[in-house]
Amino acid sequence: SMTEEAIKSNIRTIRDWPKPGINFRDVTTLFENADCFRAVIKSLVGWARERDLNCLAGIDARGFVLAGALAYELGLPLVLVRKKGKLPAETLSENYTLEYGQATIEVHNTDTIRGQRVLVIDDLLATGGTALAAIRLMRRLGAERVDFAAIINLSELPGQQLLHEDGIHTFALCN
Ligand code: IMP
Repeated sequence: SMTEEAIKSNIRTIRDWPKPGINFRDVTTLFENADCFRAVIKSLVGWARERDLNCLAGIDARGFVLAGALAYELGLPLVLVRKKGKLPAETLSENYTLEYGQATIEVHNTDTIRGQRVLVIDDLLATGGTALAAIRLMRRLGAERVDFAAIINLSELPGQQLLHEDGIHTFALCN
């Protein structure tokens, strides 16, 4: 399988995007490399199999790409956590803080999560605001346990520590 360095070399960095001083990690280049994408899914699947999961939740939008492949491979139900205003049925919502201002994510008011061991999946963990909002949604829907996985953990930011303090098991393929 592929090394952390090989995976990292397929993630493009866009300097000063979306604003000056931010170096954006762009995984679209990783998705465009079929071997690398398969290696990432294989690694996530290997970790997930150890966690005795029974449900997955993908975060809008790059998390969906990963979560769909995992749901297929693991044969598990998949719940979508979406940006505000996208889901058609009754929703629960959580606000979280961005560097400037607030954002909202939503999930359908589904029975699928209740009593389950859920893995929340996104492309990247930074401050942890998005992941923690998704985790709060899973808890409100009655999750028994919540884990989190991403391709990248920006380890200079507090996300992983905050999730750890909240009792969340996390997995990332690179920093
Ligand atoms: P956090 O909420 O600060 O942890 O930021 C993580 C969320 O913002 C995830 O949904 C990511 O998709 C997105 N995000 C933040 N920074 C980046 C980046 O550099 N590359 C890709 N996605 C990012």
